[in-house]
Amino acid sequence: MSKTILVVEDNAMNMKLFCEILEGMGLTSLCAADGKTGLTLASDHRPDLILLDMQLPDISGLDVAQSIKANGELKHIPIIAVTASVMKGDEERIMASGCDIYVSKPVQIAEFMRVIRQTLDNPPIAKGLT
Ligand code: MN
Repeated sequence: MSKTILVVEDNAMNMKLFCEILEGMGLTSLCAADGKTGLTLASDHRPDLILLDMQLPDISGLDVAQSIKANGELKHIPIIAVTASVMKGDEERIMASGCDIYVSKPVQIAEFMRVIRQTLDNPPIAKGLT
C-alpha cells in the first residue's frame, strides 16, 4: 500500500509542487492549508510522514508540531519542517517543537525527495515531549 504524506502548507503553489513531487515518488498526499485542518487530518488518517510549513495562517507550525508530539497516538509520525527563514535560534525552536528535520524554502527538489525517502525508510525515534 502506498504511504501517505500529510502536507500542511498554505501557499497554493508550494502545495501543488509538493504534491506533484510526492505523486512522482509513488506516495499519496493529504492536503491541509492551515494548522487546525492539519491536526484534524493527522488524527483522522495517521499519515506516515508530515511535511509542515512553519508559517501558517491560523496556528504556527511550531504549535502544530507540539500538538502532534504531545499526542501519544501521533507522536511517532516523523515531521519534516519546511521553512523560508532560518535565522539564529530558529533551528533550535523548530527542533524543540518536535520536528525531526527541517528543509529550507525554496526547496531543492532532489534534496527534498532524498530527505522524504530517507525519513520514510528510517523514521527518527519519536521524541515525545513531556
Ligand atoms: Mn506558509
